[in-house]
Amino acid sequence: MKKHNFYAGPSILTPYTIKNTADAVIDFANTGLSILEVSHRSKEFQAVMDDAQALVKELLEVPEGYHVLFLGGGASLQFAMVPFNLLKTKAAYLDTGVWAHKAVKEAKLFGEVDVVASSEDKNYNYIPRGYEVPSDVDYFHYTTNNTIYGTEIRKDPDVKARLVADMSSDIFSRQVDVSKYDIIYAGAQKNLAPAGATIIIVREDALGHVDRPIPTMLNYKTHADKGSMFNTPPVLPIFSALQTLRYYKEVGGIKELEKRDLDKAAKLYEAIDGSRIFESTVPNHEDRSIMNVCFVLKPEYAELEKPFMEFATSKGIVGIKGHRSVGGFRASLYNALPMESVDVLVGAMKEFDKKH
Ligand SMILES: *Cc1c(COP(=O)(O)O)cnc(C)c1O
Repeated sequence: MKKHNFYAGPSILTPYTIKNTADAVIDFANTGLSILEVSHRSKEFQAVMDDAQALVKELLEVPEGYHVLFLGGGASLQFAMVPFNLLKTKAAYLDTGVWAHKAVKEAKLFGEVDVVASSEDKNYNYIPRGYEVPSDVDYFHYTTNNTIYGTEIRKDPDVKARLVADMSSDIFSRQVDVSKYDIIYAGAQKNLAPAGATIIIVREDALGHVDRPIPTMLNYKTHADKGSMFNTPPVLPIFSALQTLRYYKEVGGIKELEKRDLDKAAKLYEAIDGSRIFESTVPNHEDRSIMNVCFVLKPEYAELEKPFMEFATSKGIVGIKGHRSVGGFRASLYNALPMESVDVLVGAMKEFDKKH
């Protein structure tokens, strides 16, 4: 049976990415060798790195003066690398969920942290508004998409401080004004490639302002100066990332991806809002994520959770169990997920609704 993959991460990749990656594991760039056993200093791999960096710049319209890096350690390492490299005395953070919270925890190791607002009071089911970012902070950090709770900020904020964003779960789903940011980072495994690489887009001029010594590997400058090839990079995820980026370009770039993502999310939210038994966990429509759609059974139908999960499984639907801190269901609609899968999920919800 055809599977419909709604996992939150690692998550669905385009068939083009999977196919080309599988081929390269057997024979990489006609070298007669596997991508797994080729030097990262070979001209064939250097071309992969160069093309991947160039395509990130092209697709996201990255201006001059920025470096694109592919580093190991996951997005979670960036929670520490950002303050290590940028925090002199004080930084501001927006607390919109577990990932934001973890970033705050690391920043506190390096200086003062001003949490400008938090939505923890309602289990992070909304995006805080009306807060001010002080202009005397070294930077303001926020999470664009809160993967666990299904909330998202789709507008680049205007602040009078350097801007840093964790875009792990919605990068490439909208056109970002990169010029507003000093650092953008994103783990690959949500919208790009297998786990193991993190994309970092860093403004040259953001670096070199702190006095503390920074271990070589944790210093962005080390990697920026060497074109992200200071040491052995995660070659396979980078190869896969390149395939996905090529596919993104081929289908029409970010504009087209955003249109598709908006259509998919609209269809699913409409089904949830129109349902007798399901409801969204994010009441404010403006705050709803188009990448991770969280929903639950209404309290009077709570006992149907397990039966619906089994019903969905029987239709080939995979990965819709909600995160344990929210419960219910979460359907992740990343770029690689086709509308067909959304149709199957919506169909299953409607059929189940009628039956109960
Ligand atoms: C998944 C995720 C992370 C953690 O990524 P790792 O690569 O596992 O460290 C951080 N932030 C957000 C928004 C995420 O969705």
